[in-house]
Amino acid sequence: MTERVAGVRLAPYTTLGLGGPARAFVAAESAEQIVELVAAADRAGEPVLVLGGGSNLVVSDEGFDGLVVRVASRGIEIDGDRITVQAGEDWDALVARAVAEGRSGIECLSGIPGLVGSTPIQNVGAYGQDVSQTIAGVRVYDRKGGDVRDLPARECGFAYRHSVFKEELGRYVVLAVTYELAGDGLSGPVAYKELAGRLGVALGERVPPAEARAAVLELRRGKGMVLDADDPDSRSAGSFFTNPILTAPEAAELELRAPGFPRWDMPDGSVKVPAAWLIENAGFPKGYRRGPARISTKHTLAMTNPEMSATTAELLDLAREVRDGVREKFGVTLVNEPVMVGTHL
Ligand SMILES: Cc1cc2nc3c(=O)[nH]c(=O)nc-3n(C[C@H](O)[C@H](O)[C@H](O)COP(=O)(O)OP(=O)(O)OC[C@H]3O[C@@H](n4cnc5c(N)ncnc54)[C@H](O)[C@@H]3O)c2cc1C
Repeated sequence: MTERVAGVRLAPYTTLGLGGPARAFVAAESAEQIVELVAAADRAGEPVLVLGGGSNLVVSDEGFDGLVVRVASRGIEIDGDRITVQAGEDWDALVARAVAEGRSGIECLSGIPGLVGSTPIQNVGAYGQDVSQTIAGVRVYDRKGGDVRDLPARECGFAYRHSVFKEELGRYVVLAVTYELAGDGLSGPVAYKELAGRLGVALGERVPPAEARAAVLELRRGKGMVLDADDPDSRSAGSFFTNPILTAPEAAELELRAPGFPRWDMPDGSVKVPAAWLIENAGFPKGYRRGPARISTKHTLAMTNPEMSATTAELLDLAREVRDGVREKFGVTLVNEPVMVGTHL
């Protein structure tokens, strides 16, 4: 669809299978086209939604009253350890290629759906790696300044599931990402206990990247976290809630309500708490259902549309019930990880 088409339903373009129509929809097949389309819409005062693989989106039942620009730019350039990838390339295909070439740094991010251009937005991460560890720079179109710029990683504001791109959502359109991937034939040091256990190595050890990829894919499949048409648990937007990061006083308060709660103590004194533990212990087990929406039967953090029969409103009813239940029991407010379009939690 390189021409503008009116009234395209967005549900088939999201992994949740949810979302009403877009006023207009167009695919952009190069960085130049992306910039032209977005700039023209901005001049006309038309709202824009940049759409990748739709795997981190919750679109309202009313849809999007503006122009949806689907990113479809392709191209990979290699210069030694540096790989510059156009935003529309498939993320997992890039990981597979890097692994096959013996490059390391993104092997633990195997099986994550979506496109390359979306990876810096929420600093995609899993199993002890996130893209901020390997991104050297990001080429963006800055809608505020109206110019194309190359941002070095230090200007991207990367943090846990966060970046300057999420902070000022909509301001920057990612056109290409440059990753620096060491080519020494070994994975990055294994930094996730469950993965180390599966690989039979100690934390900090390195393995061939292909072994790390295979182990991660196996672990992810067991949790319904690899897109699979035959697995209703994968009809999700991945983890629906981020792991809350509490200040030391907040953590002390939680200790009173939940003595010995599981925690990761962060170097800055804050405390990260597993959202899945909070949800389960607030009375929402895996498979918990509210109408047609369900918590994944394999992974507490994923809110799913298992029969593809729910509406966005119904999915959000479930998510709100979970958020409110956790707040009541533990005094901690969970925050959604996926981006909401035309709606909110
Ligand atoms: C089964 C499953 C498992 C998942 N596992 C993980 C995981 O382990 N770790 C993790 O971090 N995430 C995970 N996710 C979430 C998701 O896959 C990632 O966030 C992914 O990077 C989203 O990519 P996308 O192309 O689908 O983005 P979309 O959903 O299309 O877009 C997400 C946001 O990014 C914006 N955006 C997209 N492309 C651009 C661009 N080029 N420029 C500017 N803005 C843009 C959109 O406007 C939107 O705000 C999972 C999702 C699913 C369904």
